[in-house]
Amino acid sequence: MPWTLGEETAPNATKAIFRIECLTCDASSELVDNESAPVELWALEHTGRNVSHRQFKLYTEWFMRVDPAPGNPLYDREKETGPPRQAP
Ligand SMILES: [Zn+2]
Repeated sequence: MPWTLGEETAPNATKAIFRIECLTCDASSELVDNESAPVELWALEHTGRNVSHRQFKLYTEWFMRVDPAPGNPLYDREKETGPPRQAP
């Protein structure tokens, strides 16, 4: 059965979580949902306070989902009813 993999699309679902870490001192930003700009700003401010700390590692958790693709018997059924509900 064909399936397709894509970004999570459920309403109100977290799409991604970002965090950035200084490679000089291991300081880390907070976890931020759905947008990377706050952790990028954290890195700029961190270097502003510690001018020799210039290298960072960005960690991203990107939530994905698999849905039926055309040709999968579930494709037409779920187009009408939506995907099965997930347990919390
Ligand atoms: Zn640092």
